[in-house]
Amino acid sequence: MNENITFSIIKPNAVRTGKTGPILAMINEAGFEISAMKMVRMTTGQAESFYAVHKGKPFFDGLVEFMTSGPVFVMILRHANAVEEFRKLIGATDPNKAEPGTIRKLFAVSVQMNAVHGSDSDENADKEAGFFFSTSERF
Ligand code: UDP
Ligand code: MG
Repeated sequence: MNENITFSIIKPNAVRTGKTGPILAMINEAGFEISAMKMVRMTTGQAESFYAVHKGKPFFDGLVEFMTSGPVFVMILRHANAVEEFRKLIGATDPNKAEPGTIRKLFAVSVQMNAVHGSDSDENADKEAGFFFSTSERF
């Protein structure tokens, strides 16, 4: 387990509307280093397994449809206490509840289209990073 990495996705709504640059600038400004990054279009199967913990919830099908609706940027980020620090930077899941100045407050358009993903534990950060990146793709 590595407490210095987290996994993030810049979600389709943000990529589609040209927010990738501004979001990366905020991530950089907050002191995170990019350890790995690539643009991918998630398949339905990938989105379903990535969000498997939410299977059966009323928002699951819509979430999978949204996450596969266009390309995303997936990335591994490095920072001391990365998971917690990154969750602070992105703000609450619901942008209406997110603190001013957070990425979701600035760039989310709804609870579903909330611009970015951030891992919720060190264990999930490892799992999610491994879902998209092999060891040789990390720096
Ligand atoms: N989501 C949704 N409706 C909800 C709750 C969540 O569409 O009522 C979506 C949203 O995109 C969120 C993702 O499902 O980011 C995963 O939900 P989770 O509760 O894990 O929130 P997160 O960890 O992303 O803050
Ligand atoms: Mg979550």
